[in-house]
Amino acid sequence: MANVKKNKSKKSTKKQLKKTIKSKTSKNSKSKSVKSKNTKVKTNVVKSKKNVKNIKKDVKNKKTVRKMKEEKSKKSKSKVKESMPIYSNNEIREDYILGYKVLIAENRNLRPESFKKTKVSKSGKDYFAPGNESETPKEIGRIGTEKKWLIRWFENKFPLFNPNVEEKKEKYNPLYQSMPAKGFHEIIVGTPNKNKELEDFTPKQVEELLKVYASEIERLHSDKKIKYVLVFKNKGPNAGASVNHEHTQIVALPFIPPRADEKMSSSNRYFRTRKKCIYCELMNEEKKTERFIFENKSFIVLAPYASRFNFEALILPKAHKTSFKEFLPKDYEDLSEALLFVLKRLKKLNLDYNIVLYYEPQFKAYKEKNSGLHFHIEILPRRQVWAGFELGSGIIVNEVSPETAAKFYRTGKF
Ligand SMILES: [Zn+2]
Repeated sequence: MANVKKNKSKKSTKKQLKKTIKSKTSKNSKSKSVKSKNTKVKTNVVKSKKNVKNIKKDVKNKKTVRKMKEEKSKKSKSKVKESMPIYSNNEIREDYILGYKVLIAENRNLRPESFKKTKVSKSGKDYFAPGNESETPKEIGRIGTEKKWLIRWFENKFPLFNPNVEEKKEKYNPLYQSMPAKGFHEIIVGTPNKNKELEDFTPKQVEELLKVYASEIERLHSDKKIKYVLVFKNKGPNAGASVNHEHTQIVALPFIPPRADEKMSSSNRYFRTRKKCIYCELMNEEKKTERFIFENKSFIVLAPYASRFNFEALILPKAHKTSFKEFLPKDYEDLSEALLFVLKRLKKLNLDYNIVLYYEPQFKAYKEKNSGLHFHIEILPRRQVWAGFELGSGIIVNEVSPETAAKFYRTGKF
């Protein structure tokens, strides 16, 4: 996996931080600048792509993927220097009583202007645009040609997680449970066009992007220490996006994050008592209800029975598939269609949204006794702000019933 070398010059790091503060893609903090050795990463990209047959085949036909090794030697000769990620020593802490996890990521935002309400700036430099490649950390991969890329991915300039931090060896204290925020944090820019959002992509473009998600999950899992790869997207300021240009984020962690872990435990518990996958069961029931939204040959879209968000949607493969590894080429096509169906409707409402992917990373290990997590995508539009009742009671108020949401998605009307 990506080996990294520490840059000892703190001064130059601070300078760099000030210089690049406006280009932030996620919240993060001060501290050490680290130089990433891309050689190994790039080799891994090539290697893992060999394993993803469908993707490779598709990509090979188009002769679009850059040859990483050639690129590497060319780059080492060129004088263009990519910007370096600014790592921090963030920490994941657990609540004393309830045990929920909090990522403490103190950062540069503690300046008076950072307390003002901000919107994502439409003007200003677009750091993700073609021509500004040197403003991002070194490229991990791209689809396109040497001169013109269609999709491009690289390490986050302000990663929440740091691949180099060491485990702390402190005496166990039940009050203060913490661990360093170790992991990888990447950005995938899905289009060179700053005016296109995911909902404006062609079905083929969405399909290509999904295949990049698949190959990146696979590549990051080639590091055995990585236990989960969280793929998510923030669109618009209400969904936490700080950069306007369309992009997806990928966080690879040495543990399974709580929400994915709870979903897996719950699915497996259900399977052990009923011998059925809970997602397969709910899908078969819900498609007969007014919460049904959309279906094609291999995917179904539903408004979950207890939706937390206004117009929340859940996309599931109809067959029990636990990860991209089990996808056929047609699945990518159908998932792209289902995703676009939902997002195009959402566009009419002008709502910001988050998208999160869930999959089963270690199904093989216990296939016999468990269902494994049924692959799914949550689309979480961000219309309502959680208030005192939600925070105090732990009960979420949703002002749009899933039945109304589903009707809107099906018909385009209320
Ligand atoms: Zn299932």
